[in-house]
Amino acid sequence: MKDWAKKDLELIWHPCSQMKDYETLPPIVIDHANGCYLYDVDGKEYIDIISSWWCNLLGHCHPKVNEAIKHQLDTLEHVIFANFSHRPAITLAERLKEVVPEGLTRFHFSDNGSGAVECALKMAFQYHYQTGHPERQKFLCLSESYHGETIGALSVGSMDLFAEIYKPMLMDQTVHTQGPDCYRCAYGKTRETCSCECFEHMEKDFAEHGSTLAAVIVEPLIQGCAGMKMYPPEYLRKLRELCDRYGVLLIADEIATGFGRTGKLFAFDHAGVSPDIMTVSKALTGGYMPMSITVVAEKIYQAFYDDYHTMKAFMHSHTYSGNPLGCAAALAVLDTLRDEHILEKAEEMGNYLHDALVEVLGNHPNVGEIRRMGLINAIELVTNKETKEGFDGSLRMGYQIYKKALDRGLLLRPLGNVIYFNPPLTIDKETIDIAIERTVQAMADVLSLYSKIKI
Ligand code: PMP
Repeated sequence: MKDWAKKDLELIWHPCSQMKDYETLPPIVIDHANGCYLYDVDGKEYIDIISSWWCNLLGHCHPKVNEAIKHQLDTLEHVIFANFSHRPAITLAERLKEVVPEGLTRFHFSDNGSGAVECALKMAFQYHYQTGHPERQKFLCLSESYHGETIGALSVGSMDLFAEIYKPMLMDQTVHTQGPDCYRCAYGKTRETCSCECFEHMEKDFAEHGSTLAAVIVEPLIQGCAGMKMYPPEYLRKLRELCDRYGVLLIADEIATGFGRTGKLFAFDHAGVSPDIMTVSKALTGGYMPMSITVVAEKIYQAFYDDYHTMKAFMHSHTYSGNPLGCAAALAVLDTLRDEHILEKAEEMGNYLHDALVEVLGNHPNVGEIRRMGLINAIELVTNKETKEGFDGSLRMGYQIYKKALDRGLLLRPLGNVIYFNPPLTIDKETIDIAIERTVQAMADVLSLYSKIKI
C-alpha cells in the first residue's frame, strides 16, 4: 500500500467497524470506479456486488449522472432551503409526485436516511398532537427491523447489534411486534402456501396498543439488515387495513427498497396500497449525494398548516436540506430509469442471476434458501438444511467469506449467515457470472475449512 494511504489507520475511525479488525484487514483504498467495478490505488479490481451500501443504482461514474452534477455545480451548488428554493428541487418534487404511491403529495428534504426516518417519526407524533390525539405517542415496529442509527431511528429498530448498548437512551414506548419469518415459518407454511398467518401478532398488538399508537414503521417486503428477509405484499395490504381501522399512520421506510430494487419502483407498488409517509434515500441520487426525502400524504401536511402563532409548523431542518447537486443527481437518475428502461432490463438480469445461483448453489449442503426480489438475491447459509440451523455467530462466517471474496476481487458484505447480491441495476451477464464464480470460491475457501473442524 502507498505510504500516504497507510495513514488511514492513524487517522480515520471507519463506520460500523471494530477498528482492531483493520490490523489484519487494512482499509482498501479506492482510486476510481466505473460501472460495477472499483479499482484500488494498487490497481486491483473489485466487483461492487452490493452497490456500495445498497445505494449505487446505475453503476459508478454513470455518464448522465456525472454530467448532471457537473452542470449543476457551475450553476448553483447550495443555498439555504428555508424560504428559498431552486429549480432542481421543484422539478424533482414534481417528477417524484408522478411516480410515488398514490396520495403522497408533499416532499420534505433531509440529507441521510436516518434523518428522513427521524422526520417521519416526529411528523407522525406531531400530526396526532395537532389533530386532537395527543395520547398517540407510541410507535410500532417489526422484530429484526432496521431504520437507521440515530437515537429515534434506533428506537424503532429491533436489532440489538446496533441498539443494545444505547437502550437507556432510547424511546422506551416502542412496541416490537413479531414480524414475518418466511424461511423459518412458525406456522409450517411455505412462501407458496402463506396467507400471512403471522399477521395475528400484529392484530394482537394493535388490540392492546392501537389507541395509543402514532404510527407503524416497516421496511416493506425486504428487511435488509436482518439478512434480506423477504415477506409477501399481502402483509402490507393487511397492515394498511389495520392502520386505517385504528387511525394509526403507516410509515414505509423505502430507503433500501426504493427506486427499483424490488423490481418495481417502490416496494409498496407490489401491494397496490399506499403508506401515509414514505422515506427514501440511497438510490434516490444513484448513490452519489447524501440526500433523503420524507414524502407525506396531504392530510399530514395540512395538519401543520396554520398561522405562525399557532406553533403548528414542523420545526425541523438540516443544513443540506434540498441540496441542488443532490436534486440534479436524482433527476438524472429518474430520467435514466425511464429513458433506458432500466427496470425491465434489471428484471431480466434478476432472473438470470437467480437461475444461475440456483443452478450452482441450489444443492449445496450449506445453502438453506436462495431468495430473490428484483435483482436482490440472498443466500442463507445453514449448518443443516433440515433443521435450518445457522452457523454460530462467534464463527463470524460472513466476515470470513467477506475477506476471502475481497482476495478474489469481489465486494460482498454478508449479513451474518446471509450472503447477498444487491448490484447496480445496470449489471450485465458477464459480470454476474464472474461475481458468482468468485462467491462460490470464497464460500468454498471458508466452508471447507469449517467442515474440517466441525462436521
Ligand atoms: N432505513 C433503512 C431501511 C436502511 O437500510 C438504512 C441504511 N442502511 C437506513 C434507514 C439509514 O440510512 P442512513 O444510513 O443513510 O442513515
